[in-house]
Amino acid sequence: MLNIVLFGPPGCGKGTQSAKLIEKYNLVHLSTGDILRSEIANGTALGIEAKKLMDQGILVPDQVVIGMISAKLDANKNANGFIFDGFPRTQAQAAALDNLLKEKGTAITAMLSLDVEYDELVRRILHRGKDSGRPDDQNPTVIGKRVDEYNKKTAPLIDYYKSQNKFHSIKGNGTIDEIFGKLCEVIDNL
Ligand code: ADP
Repeated sequence: MLNIVLFGPPGCGKGTQSAKLIEKYNLVHLSTGDILRSEIANGTALGIEAKKLMDQGILVPDQVVIGMISAKLDANKNANGFIFDGFPRTQAQAAALDNLLKEKGTAITAMLSLDVEYDELVRRILHRGKDSGRPDDQNPTVIGKRVDEYNKKTAPLIDYYKSQNKFHSIKGNGTIDEIFGKLCEVIDNL
């Protein structure tokens, strides 16, 4: 299996690049942000609770997102592999993901980290917010909080994957196709 963690701060382009990667490598896309937004759209109890946190730019509890990913792994038993987008976001989530994959006799192949400067992130998110309707994309304070959460809780995962020799950094500026080309080059050399 090819199991990729696509990593980086909010607005770095994970969703855009995931869509292209799943097509090229025939993978299943697992985005915890998308799953949470579909819970919100369906008005589930989980969605209602998650929305309160997401609208403030705060991470939802580990056990919630770990449970969601576990269910999705079970629902896609015959997949070629997975792209994890927006997950893991904490050390506890990364450890849980390793355990879930181990139970299935597989593992993370690589973590690909998209590197983008802060000002560019904010610019891209505010631009996306104009059409996406996502409340968390429209308020600079909330965007700042999301980047803070990333720096505090998520960025330390770089060391987690470095210690497993799975970390790869890719410059996330340039055109969508240029960045995609760089990601494919790394994957093809794994
Ligand atoms: P972005 O990466 O652009 O911030 P996402 O769609 O991945 O957007 O996430 C939106 C929000 O959903 C996050 O700010 C957070 O509140 C919640 N969320 C998504 N994935 C996770 C996760 N793995 N752990 C905790 N919270 C999450």
